[in-house]
Amino acid sequence: MALKLPIYLDHAATTPCDPRVVEAMLPYFTEKFGNPGSRSHRFGWEAEEATDKAREQVARLIGADPKEIIFTSGATESNNLAIRGAAYMYERNPAGSGKSRGHIISAVHEHKAVLDPCKRLVKEGFEVTFLEPGRDGIITAEMVKGALREDTILVTVMWANNEIGTINEVREIGAVVREHRAATGGDTLFHTDATQWVGKMPTDVEKDNIDLLSMSGHKIYGPKGVGALYVRRRKPRVRLVSLLDGGGQERGFRSGTLNVPGIVGLGAAAEICLNEMERDGERLLKLRRYLEERITSELDVVAINGHPERRLPHLTNISFGFVEGESLMMAVKEVACSSGSACTSASLEPSYVLKALGVGDELAHSSLRLSMGRWTTQEQVEYAADRIIANVKKLRELSPLYDMYKEGIDLSKVEWAHH
Ligand code: PMP
Repeated sequence: MALKLPIYLDHAATTPCDPRVVEAMLPYFTEKFGNPGSRSHRFGWEAEEATDKAREQVARLIGADPKEIIFTSGATESNNLAIRGAAYMYERNPAGSGKSRGHIISAVHEHKAVLDPCKRLVKEGFEVTFLEPGRDGIITAEMVKGALREDTILVTVMWANNEIGTINEVREIGAVVREHRAATGGDTLFHTDATQWVGKMPTDVEKDNIDLLSMSGHKIYGPKGVGALYVRRRKPRVRLVSLLDGGGQERGFRSGTLNVPGIVGLGAAAEICLNEMERDGERLLKLRRYLEERITSELDVVAINGHPERRLPHLTNISFGFVEGESLMMAVKEVACSSGSACTSASLEPSYVLKALGVGDELAHSSLRLSMGRWTTQEQVEYAADRIIANVKKLRELSPLYDMYKEGIDLSKVEWAHH
């Protein structure tokens, strides 16, 4: 069968909706259109039953109690609610007192949906420590331990990085935060942006020591514009200042009529992921290994970014020396992928995530993120590998620097002409 082009290898940006998810959602647009807040008739009850079921499905995926799930518009909103909501609720000194309002720990290579709320908090009088990873991209429990303070309100460290797929020491960080809480008698909380992790890898908010967790529908074969925030209710009972006020839905954490079809879709997507993640994960790991093996064996001067093993199974980020990432992407139009993340690849800045790992500007500019998904086939990956390898070779033929490198000239010693 002929391959359908282009091939989609950008599942870290978004995933297609699973047809089973769409099927589950459809009745909730038309015949079952009620508002779950309508307590006085069947239309409302029916909608509430549907959102209750979805709450259970999402809770089961992460080992939570359904009451601990707050539906949101996606991971961006979940992150904002968790980070700003916790900071305002647990501030140590009031705004305008001239004293620090409290301390937060995060990392320099988090998603913008974590970095920007943190930066806003700095402007508002909080202090934030942005941890810096080593070359492997991992944030360790030791790093967090070294940064914790008596006035630390929140630690927010993502589970898996969206650009390089590296996996932080989440369970261990959670344990460190718990120990700190016990030792200080304080209320320091642990939030993780698990957008790229949940649905792909086993998650248990109890064993993993998590107080707040963000997730998104459209990264797990569900619809866009819906997500959830897990908010721990016991040991400790987490409180948050809401960012949207109104009808008091979602236990007052998030006002607004619920997006019933979206929530039903998120629930269905969660259930499918729980049932299929093991099989999908094993298959995707094989495909990723094949792709990496082809590229590293058939090309020289390539580097896989991030920790060699502590990575998501379906994602790889590869730098190609002597090639410009944007030109390569243009040359390999039949393969839909990204250079850096979708959010930053609109600008031609080298990826701040790769820079955080100490990857030089040159190589950070020449990287591709390739991420596979539920329907990616071996044939598609073979085709992608063929196209990428052929085009890197072609682009390098045009590169005088690559010629010099091949001739053994030490490029760091070349004197560049300045105009
Ligand atoms: N966090 C991470 C790690 C992500 O990858 C994304 C999606 N790019 C988001 C947050 C934002 O998610 P959403 O699109 O649901 O707002």
